Amino acid sequence: MSKVFYVPLHRGAPDAELRAKVEALFAAADLGRCFHENDLTPVKLHVGEPGTKTFVSPALARELVRLVAGTGAVPFLTDTAVLYKSPRDSGPGHARVAWEHGFTLDATGAPFVPADGLRGSDEVSVAVGGQHYDEVAIASGIAQARSLLVLSHATGHLGTGFGGALKNLGMGCASRQGKLRQHHGQHPRIDPETCRVCGTCAEWCPTESIEVGEETAVIREETCIGCGECVATCREGAVEFDWSVMGRELQERIVEHAAAIVRGKPGRIAYVTDATAITKDCDCLGLEQEPVLPDLGLLASRDPVAIDQAVLELVRERAGHSIEALSYPDRDARYQIEHAVTMGLGESRVELVTVSP
Ligand code: SF4
Ligand code: SF4
Repeated sequence: MSKVFYVPLHRGAPDAELRAKVEALFAAADLGRCFHENDLTPVKLHVGEPGTKTFVSPALARELVRLVAGTGAVPFLTDTAVLYKSPRDSGPGHARVAWEHGFTLDATGAPFVPADGLRGSDEVSVAVGGQHYDEVAIASGIAQARSLLVLSHATGHLGTGFGGALKNLGMGCASRQGKLRQHHGQHPRIDPETCRVCGTCAEWCPTESIEVGEETAVIREETCIGCGECVATCREGAVEFDWSVMGRELQERIVEHAAAIVRGKPGRIAYVTDATAITKDCDCLGLEQEPVLPDLGLLASRDPVAIDQAVLELVRERAGHSIEALSYPDRDARYQIEHAVTMGLGESRVELVTVSP
């Protein structure tokens, strides 16, 4: 059985209350033991797609940055490039969105440094020996760090029913190639109606798999390695891939990427989940969303499985429904947890300890 520590909190609580509660949670869960002197420590969060408002607050990031820095480690805020068309599909664009959403050095005490470089392709291949992959592609800024703080926002999710710590780890810490492999098993294709035959994708393709004809560019599947460079570099949105991997298979793929990270940093990963402003969709949806239930609070643990399980139990207890019932009822959020237990990532039996500041 794993312990998960919990403190009730409302979004927008006064700074003094937030600080006292985060300090109490950090101490109770003994998160400080994960960080050592001079560790370059990523604080992995989601800065929110432009248009959304319910991402984790810079104030929460600030309190955690302060506590991590207090251990002698050197925290920085980070995230990875997205696959879809967005300012967050490159390092500079992502840094700008982080700044626009208040994740500035002044406000949080740490710089935002994209973990996967300029275009989402700075990555390290990590052996995992899973059901779907022998190796997975993880952002180098995550893979090379000795310790890690996973700061997640609990939400529903179109593909998995729930997004928490495991998803923040498995999908959120993967490079673009890693994400692409989770979402589909095929190669991208180019839409001839949208292609402007500019040739940019062919210039960037590392395997020379794109032929630029007179009317459209075409991908040669035999040599394509599915790196997604063409998806990122086409500014016309002409390179498409299907998002058909959903549900259980997507959950297994996410967990196998998470396993690569967890196994690489035994005892050195801390998890904090913000279970306030829980929305139907994740923070990648560039729209303002209304929460689907009242704020629960903050949770902390050193077990990624237990902290996700604890959120699911709290939601069910407070709402009287599962998170899937509030988001995507066809999904089974528990399956991700079961697969993570099978992969040895943590425990699904949880002792929830309420903390008082
Ligand atoms: S970058 Fe986009 S528009 Fe240009 S050739 Fe490639 S697919 Fe066509
Ligand atoms: S996915 Fe990578 S290898 Fe395949 S065509 Fe696109 S750039 Fe080339």
